Amino acid sequence: MMQVPLSVGSLMEHAESFFPKKEVISQTHDKLHRLNYGEIGQRTRRLMSILNELGISKGDRVGTLAWNHHRHLEVYFAAPGMGAVLHTINIRLSPEDIIYIINHAEDRILFIDEDILPLIEHIHTHLATVEAYVVMTDKAELPDSTIQPLYSYEELLSTGDPSYEFAKDIDENQPAGMCYTSATTGKPKGVVYTHRAIVLHSFALGLADTAAISESDVSMPVVPQFHVNAWGTPFACTWFGSTQVLPGPRFTPKRLAEFIDRFKVTITAGVPTIWLGLLRELEQGDYDTSSLRAVLCGGSAAPLGLIKAFEEKYKIPFYHAYGATETTPLATISRLKSYQQDISQEEKFQERARQGILVPGLQMKVVSDKGEVEWNGKDMGELLLKGPWIADEYYKDNRSLDAFKNGWFHTGDVVTVDEEGTIKIVDRTKDLIKSGGEWISSVEIENAIMAFGPVFEASVVAIPDEKWQERPIACVVLHEGYENKTTKEDILEFLKPQFPKWWLPDDVLFFEEIPKSSVGKFLKRELREQVKARYSPQG
Ligand code: ADP
Repeated sequence: MMQVPLSVGSLMEHAESFFPKKEVISQTHDKLHRLNYGEIGQRTRRLMSILNELGISKGDRVGTLAWNHHRHLEVYFAAPGMGAVLHTINIRLSPEDIIYIINHAEDRILFIDEDILPLIEHIHTHLATVEAYVVMTDKAELPDSTIQPLYSYEELLSTGDPSYEFAKDIDENQPAGMCYTSATTGKPKGVVYTHRAIVLHSFALGLADTAAISESDVSMPVVPQFHVNAWGTPFACTWFGSTQVLPGPRFTPKRLAEFIDRFKVTITAGVPTIWLGLLRELEQGDYDTSSLRAVLCGGSAAPLGLIKAFEEKYKIPFYHAYGATETTPLATISRLKSYQQDISQEEKFQERARQGILVPGLQMKVVSDKGEVEWNGKDMGELLLKGPWIADEYYKDNRSLDAFKNGWFHTGDVVTVDEEGTIKIVDRTKDLIKSGGEWISSVEIENAIMAFGPVFEASVVAIPDEKWQERPIACVVLHEGYENKTTKEDILEFLKPQFPKWWLPDDVLFFEEIPKSSVGKFLKRELREQVKARYSPQG
């Protein structure tokens, strides 16, 4: 067969040729834009010519600090399209982490949203390698700024060449993108995505038994474009000619609900906290969500109660998926097999709340200190992954040695696997609670608590215990109106029939909000501190 390198630029070329009329609907700070792939393709070409003029060449890192919108999408294709590397930066990280990431990646140019400018003004003197800044603004005038040189995106584009060619000498194993982990677990670690990985991962998103993304979809990624490339959806959707709805800066659950209704969104993707917020909104407003054929949920465990609410109350199909920055990210997805259809409704939900089975193309192994664990749904071990869209190292980081030893990515996630090959994430290695020599899964208790009607959010953390080593404490946020009505005893009573006695939390603490990471996951590190403070004599 022919040896044809897989390249990110070719995905956009395909969209230009075959889907020039299909639309990208994009919310920016000031307005809603509607452009088709014909226009987006030309703008991408203009941008490649500008990057070239600004001296960006093969392998150079092009940083972005931006929300989900069409300009960000154009950089997604322009940077790798001319052989450079798209580096999406998580705007919600601390300024220290952002400085670290930009310097570590050695970004030469930064594309930033208008509302991120103050942050960059604050830190730009620490950015050792950045030579130019581009503001992605709708306004004719550039904002006043101390940063130099500062360009306007649209002004630059107006002088660009709309027929500039996508690079044809791409080696598919060359870097196309990079992204740093969201620092839930320590200093951010850089992952480099090759052209080949991104293209193969896009194929995977199109498979009927994964996300089945197709031309007929209207895709609204809520997961940020700075979080593992919005889970790769912009690449796949462009290639397949799906309509894309990009919800823009500082979106609210209201905007998401309105967009679903107005643009007839068929597929959307995000972390559980987003869907908890959307549920609240759906309960308050009157929205038509009947166009939705799939809500993809991943990033942290999707509580059973959440899946049920979407499916039973709103008849919205809900798919639980699992992955990480290191896995581009799709690794597993939860769907019932054809012969699993006659189990009870409750069992179906139980099954689908698990993280599912491996996506074709990948390999997995689950290993404990005694070797590979049996697929019996009980034995726990760490999940190891291998495959063409799994990273094999962190960018210039000696933490690679442990995480990628023996040719496998060690996910740091503790799982069980049942006879069907369905994995269930029990916990992150460091969040498991060790009580009296046995492990307690914080995720399982959290999910059980979140299925209790009055509860909005729950997170379970360990506190040190003299006798048992560690004991679980439940941290709970109640729905509005339940604040002084639901008690610790109510929650423990609800849990009692579901768990062995020693799994039950020693205490239930009520919070107004659970601290969250930059990508909306429960931040257990911070929560443990807050719990400790409540128990300290001063607290
Ligand atoms: P960070 O490690 O900084 O949180 P990532 O976004 O790469 O950054 O997170 C990947 C991790 O998120 C996985 O290793 C796993 O612990 C967790 N995760 C992702 N999807 C799920 C899921 N469906 N259920 C449970 N945990 C998940």
